[in-house]
Parts: sequence; C-alpha cells; structure tokens
Amino acid sequence: MSFFSPLIMKSESKPAYHADSNFEKAKCLIIGSGPAGYTAAIYSGRANISPVLYEGLQPGGQLTTTTEIENFPGYPDGVTGLIMMEELKQQAIRFGTEVRSGIASSVDFSKRPFKVFFDDGKAIEAQIVIIATGASAKYLGIPSEEKLKGSGISACATCDGFFYKSQDVAVVGGGDTACEEATYLSGICNKVYMIVRKNYLRASKVMVQRVLANSRIEVLFEHTTKEVLGDQTVEGVLLVNAKGEDIKIKITGFFLAIGHQPNSDIFKPLIDTDEAGYIKTIPGTSKTNIPGVFACGDVQDKVYRQAVTAAGSGCMAAIDAERFIGEQGYV
Ligand code: NDP
Repeated sequence: MSFFSPLIMKSESKPAYHADSNFEKAKCLIIGSGPAGYTAAIYSGRANISPVLYEGLQPGGQLTTTTEIENFPGYPDGVTGLIMMEELKQQAIRFGTEVRSGIASSVDFSKRPFKVFFDDGKAIEAQIVIIATGASAKYLGIPSEEKLKGSGISACATCDGFFYKSQDVAVVGGGDTACEEATYLSGICNKVYMIVRKNYLRASKVMVQRVLANSRIEVLFEHTTKEVLGDQTVEGVLLVNAKGEDIKIKITGFFLAIGHQPNSDIFKPLIDTDEAGYIKTIPGTSKTNIPGVFACGDVQDKVYRQAVTAAGSGCMAAIDAERFIGEQGYV
C-alpha cells in the first residue's frame, strides 16, 4: 500500500526544515500531548533534539477532562488538569519544542527516517518518533455522560475519588479495574455500589474476594445503566435489573471502569502490541520493537495509568531517544 495518498501529494504545506523534499524533516517527532508527551518534549528540548510535538485529538490528553489533580507531586493545593497541561506545554515550548495541532493518521515505520502523515495533509520524516498517544477510557455512550463528564462522572477513582468523601458513589464494571476502584473508593466514601452487567465479576479471584468481603461495597449483579440523573451534577442513576425493572439509586459520583482503549491502532501491525493493543516496550525502557521508535505514557501502560508515571515514562523516552541519536551519529 502506498502511503502517498492524493491528499498528501496535494498538500501545499511549506517544509519547515529542508525545502528539498515533500516531507518536512524533524530529528524528533513526538505524537501526543499528555504528561508523557510534554515531559518527553521538555527533556528532548533541553537535550537540543529540537522536538516537534503534535497535540493529537485531545490536546493535553485525558487529564483535561478531570476536575482537579491533587496527587501530582509539587502542587500542594491541587491544580486543574487544564492548567497543568498548559503549564507543561509552556515548559516544553520554553526549551524549543514546536507544538502543533493535528492528528497523526498513518505512519510508515518500515525504515528510517520514519514517515508520519497527519490529518491536515502534512507529512513529516523523522529520525526518531516518540509515541505518547495515551489511552481513552471507554464510556457507556448514553447522553447524560456527555453532560455530566467532569461534574460527577469520572473514569478515574484515584484522580477524583477524594471529592466524594463520605458520599455514596457507583462504579460500573466487573473487571480488575472496577474492583480496584471500588475498593479504593470504599476507603473514602460512605457507600460504593458496583453496577455489573453479568451475574459474576470477571476480575481476579483475590480482587473478587476483597470486594465481596467489603461491607461498604454493594454489588448489583445483572444491572445495566439506563441514565445518570442530575442537571449540573450527578444526583443518582437509573438502572435496569435482570427482570427489566427500573431502579433508581441516589449517588453523587459515577465512575466508569469498563476498560481503556490504548490509542495505538495507526502504529499496528509494525509496532508490537499486546492483545489489548498496549504497545510493548522492552522492560525498563521505552524502546519498542522498532529501533528509533519509543513509547511512553498510557499507550504502553495498562497498570499504573497515572499522570506522574506517564510523565516519568516520557522522561525515559527522551533519554532513550537522545542516546539513540548519539549512537546513530545523527546531527
Ligand atoms: P476488563 O475488560 O477486564 O473489564 C471490563 C469490565 O467492564 C467487565 O466487567 C465488562 O463486563 C464491563 N463492561 C464493558 N463494557 C461494558 C458496558 N458497556 N456496560 C457495562 N459493563 C461493561 O477491563 P479492566 O480495565 O478491568 O482490565 C483490563 C486489563 O487490565 C485486564 O486484563 C485486567 O486483569 C488488567 N488489570 C490488572 C490490574 C492488576 O493486576 N492490578 C488492575 C487493573 C486491570 P463483562 O464482564 O460483561 O464483559
């Protein structure tokens, strides 16, 4: 398959680095703008690698949809996701990162330099690529979710659970994440309902035992969510049970834990991923199976998924990239 789509060939974009090809040339291309991407940009900028960073579909990443971040070290009074991402962006720009809007739509990683094509028709040839495209929490797809996202609906209990101290909340899902989130919330909240569509929990045995033994957690098996109730904030949830009956429960927080989708599709099949789509990295590094392509943040992490761990892995990617450039002798 040719990567030269008609759209790209017709592009009138001006090459920013060398005017002698259809591609812009970049030493280091970072795809994604959450804490991983921006941290990779800060480190690679300071290492004089002149990164170009594309912000992607959701500039700033998942954190821009959370209300307040209280667990990122260095913010004793908390910070909103939007402000934190804007500050990370400014810090990246300060060290020479060129931040651009745009979504990577396809890649050619078959040989170096790598080619990456963007939705606006631009194409970049990069010596190294750092993938920081993150993961997207899955939502149920009901209308009230859009309305109340960030106002009582969250996909991260560790991020937002504290706001529901001593209140009643619900967690949707029956996997390990849901069990972990429910257990975490049970230490903060008055009561935690688990809304599980099957008549069993899919999670590991130990997690299931922990949940069932927890007196603050009530598992509602064979219940599905019809609608989250409330205008400005969450006031309750309307469920349907196995008999088809409507059931209303009063809650102030509604947590989704029905899985995440790593944003890795465009990198397959050349980049190795696990069965869920998370990019595989060589343990202890950010290196993918393709030398010169590095991955950091949630696109390669299904376990921790925290801003601070994403930022840490962004730092690793920039250091790995800098060493790779040194070894290859790129100027
Ligand atoms: P899973 O895919 O394992 O579980 C998702 C859960 O959400 C299932 O109970 C599923 O129901 C339910 N669900 C999915 N879609 C809907 C929907 N539309 N409506 C209602 N319920 C829905 O995702 P997890 O995030 O829990 O785990 C992902 C992977 O990460 C797993 O391999 C897990 O073991 C691992 N993990 C490991 C941890 C650890 O080891 N500490 C911690 C967290 C995750 P159903 O069962 O009916 O399909």
